[in-house]
Amino acid sequence: MGGREEEEGGEEYLFKIVLIGESAVGKSNLLSRFARNEFDNNSKATIGVEFQTQVVEIDGKEIKAQIWDTAGQERFRAVTSAYYRGAVGALIVYDITRRSSFDSIKRWLDELSTHCDTAVARMVVGNKCDLENIRDVSVEEGKSLAEEEDLFFMETSALESTNVQTAFEVVIREIYNNVC
Ligand code: GDP
Ligand code: MG
Repeated sequence: MGGREEEEGGEEYLFKIVLIGESAVGKSNLLSRFARNEFDNNSKATIGVEFQTQVVEIDGKEIKAQIWDTAGQERFRAVTSAYYRGAVGALIVYDITRRSSFDSIKRWLDELSTHCDTAVARMVVGNKCDLENIRDVSVEEGKSLAEEEDLFFMETSALESTNVQTAFEVVIREIYNNVC
């Protein structure tokens, strides 16, 4: 879904972006922070909506970012191809306090390339950077993984609102540069 449609008074851009990564890394909270400026401490499974749309302005153009969140199916490694279909951007999220979530990034990248044959703007996100005292993955490790795979990289905190806006905007801008 990298649509660009002519409308009265200009073009309209709609970009589908997917959130992937292990369960409990903070995907749903990154989205609620970005879309509604909210944080939920005990967000169990994601309820209801499959995606949220957020309008962003780039170069004076209005861009609708349609951001998809899983409903917890990543727990069963059962993210379906419908979830990936049409995606032009992805945030692949791990938790900086849980190494296993970092180790699984490559598997998520493989899954992404299996389902999306087009060039997808991708960013590796190390979330929960507010938890410095129990950090388990260094910033350097995150950076070098991203460099190896030629991806963007950022550490975020959905709790403290660190870099959340920026992470989404970098991906949206990259998509914009790819399609426009
Ligand atoms: P998801 O399963 O990947 O969607 O993860 P959730 O968004 O449901 O978050 C899982 C747990 O991590 C919840 O208890 C959140 O409150 C917590 N969490 C999410 N983001 C952060 C963060 O940036 N910092 C901290 N300290 N906790 C977070
Ligand atoms: Mg979730």
